[in-house]
Amino acid sequence: MRKIFSLIFVFLLAFPMTACGQNRVEEETAGKAEFDFERKTVMLNSGYEMPINGLGTYSLHGDECIDSVKSALSNGVRLIDTASVYGNEEEVGQAIREAISEGIIQREDVFVTTKIYPGSEMKNPVQSIQACIDRLDIGYVDLMLLHHPDPNDVEAYKAMEQFVKEGKIRSIGLSNWYVEELTEFLPQVDTVPALVQNEIHPYYQENEVIPFIQNLGIVVQGWYPLGGRGHTGELLGDPVISEIAGTHGVSSAQVILRWNLQKDVVVIPGSSNPDHIRENTELYHFSLNGDEMAWINALDRGEKHDWY
Ligand code: NAP
Repeated sequence: MRKIFSLIFVFLLAFPMTACGQNRVEEETAGKAEFDFERKTVMLNSGYEMPINGLGTYSLHGDECIDSVKSALSNGVRLIDTASVYGNEEEVGQAIREAISEGIIQREDVFVTTKIYPGSEMKNPVQSIQACIDRLDIGYVDLMLLHHPDPNDVEAYKAMEQFVKEGKIRSIGLSNWYVEELTEFLPQVDTVPALVQNEIHPYYQENEVIPFIQNLGIVVQGWYPLGGRGHTGELLGDPVISEIAGTHGVSSAQVILRWNLQKDVVVIPGSSNPDHIRENTELYHFSLNGDEMAWINALDRGEKHDWY
């Protein structure tokens, strides 16, 4: 019975005017946050502005992580994604503090996301959330996510809500939550997540899930935008993507990242290569036309590159 009420609740949230019989186009875009391609940002439902392209730091550690984050910040990247499970929050925090003291950025210029992990972290959410804040050591955290669903996820989310009230976290959200998980979860919490971060790339497009989330007024962010390590060769060498890249005089990576942005999906490509980091910021001097978007949309294989 609870599941039925959950489904009705989420349906009304996602499609608020369907029940009133109003215009379908209006109703499906009612809650969606539009990207601002001039400012390169999107306004979250929490009232905070977030950059739409950033740097992912999964698998970056030690000096390589510090150098990559500083390289990104020097190249204008203002969104950094980390997680407690990546084991690099201290390095990310150090890079940001160094960039601040070197005059590259001010704290308010950069938007930092971290995540707490299922299992013991979500079982003790208050300690885990505080530990992330302590490891980063940059004052507040811009966005904290629950990394995956977990038996204690509702309690962990409520703990994040409390940290928001205390001003230690600005926005909260979820990662690896799909339609069924959101339908179950949302009626149990007070704050609509600001963002959901899921696997999204041309071979795994989530074309059903993305509009469902966006119509709830929740911003979608894609992980493994380039397919993830071990898969980038095939994706970047895809003949369709390579041809589109050639037409625009850009790289395959830039085409994929731009395709995401035009679907209002925030991108956080991972890289330790300064040339790639810079290239991944140059996404605003060209655009894909309707045919090009459709050709990439047609590459979907439903091929997940990780289990979650
Ligand atoms: P990715 O961004 O899909 O791919 C990273 C790979 O692409 C690296 O090998 C990188 O190599 C290469 N690359 C980056 N830019 C390139 C360019 N312009 N040209 C050619 N190659 C390029 O995979 P990812 O870093 O694993 O994922 C992105 C981020 O998503 C992660 O860092 C993490 O923050 C997040 N994530 C979240 C979850 C979750 O469960 N929420 C799961 C996985 C990942 P170089 O270093 O040589 O540039």
